[in-house]
Amino acid sequence: MSQGLIDFHCHLDLYPDHPALVDECERLGVRTLTVTTTPKAWPRNHALASQTRYVRAALGLHPQLVADRAAEVSIWESHLDETRYVGEVGLDAGPRFFRSLDQQKLVFDHVLKTCSRRGGKILTVHSIRAAKAVLDAVEAHLAASRGRVVLHWFTGSTSDARRATDLGCYFSVNAEMLRNERAKSMIAGLPIDRVLTETDGPFTRTGDRPARPADVATAIDLLADLRRSNRDATARQVTKNLRTLLIAADIDPD
Ligand code: MN
Repeated sequence: MSQGLIDFHCHLDLYPDHPALVDECERLGVRTLTVTTTPKAWPRNHALASQTRYVRAALGLHPQLVADRAAEVSIWESHLDETRYVGEVGLDAGPRFFRSLDQQKLVFDHVLKTCSRRGGKILTVHSIRAAKAVLDAVEAHLAASRGRVVLHWFTGSTSDARRATDLGCYFSVNAEMLRNERAKSMIAGLPIDRVLTETDGPFTRTGDRPARPADVATAIDLLADLRRSNRDATARQVTKNLRTLLIAADIDPD
């Protein structure tokens, strides 16, 4: 695997120039995991990422859409054999989505159990205000030997993070998190070999525009500062972490 930038959670299909952005990631060599929010978006995302060196697509059903789209879990399942990457999935107990939390839990449990049965999946997981519930579900339904969880934009406490680490989870961190004092102290305590980087574009910004995958360089710089390291060493570490994760899920890292 070449050295370089890794954006392990980005929504390429939410930009107006989705195909051009795939090409941009390829040209710049940014290893990008593009997540989907509904399995209806899967076929196009899959098609655009099927011949690529650096871009992979993940099959998702976003917790914020479960209230309206829970029935799509059957579509999600029908595509599952087409990919090793699952997301965006998870739980959201924030005020806008709290009402669907029971339904979200049913869907997320089903996702975890199905991934456990099939084996070899990597999941990028949302856990807003639901760190404990997400970890309870992972602990109950997806042993690390059956699939690997990457907690995206994790906002749990330091002790939640420790529990997640013990469960074998990875963490993808973005520049916005690395500018937040509370998140910074949680990230500073993570084992460095479990840390990946992300933009969560277009939901974060670089300057006055939505972040693009190459902007994950900012997260690397901020992570290097936090760890009192430098950009190259940090980029190398994150690349190594991704390689270890892929090998753990029995995915060819090259
Ligand atoms: Mn996202």
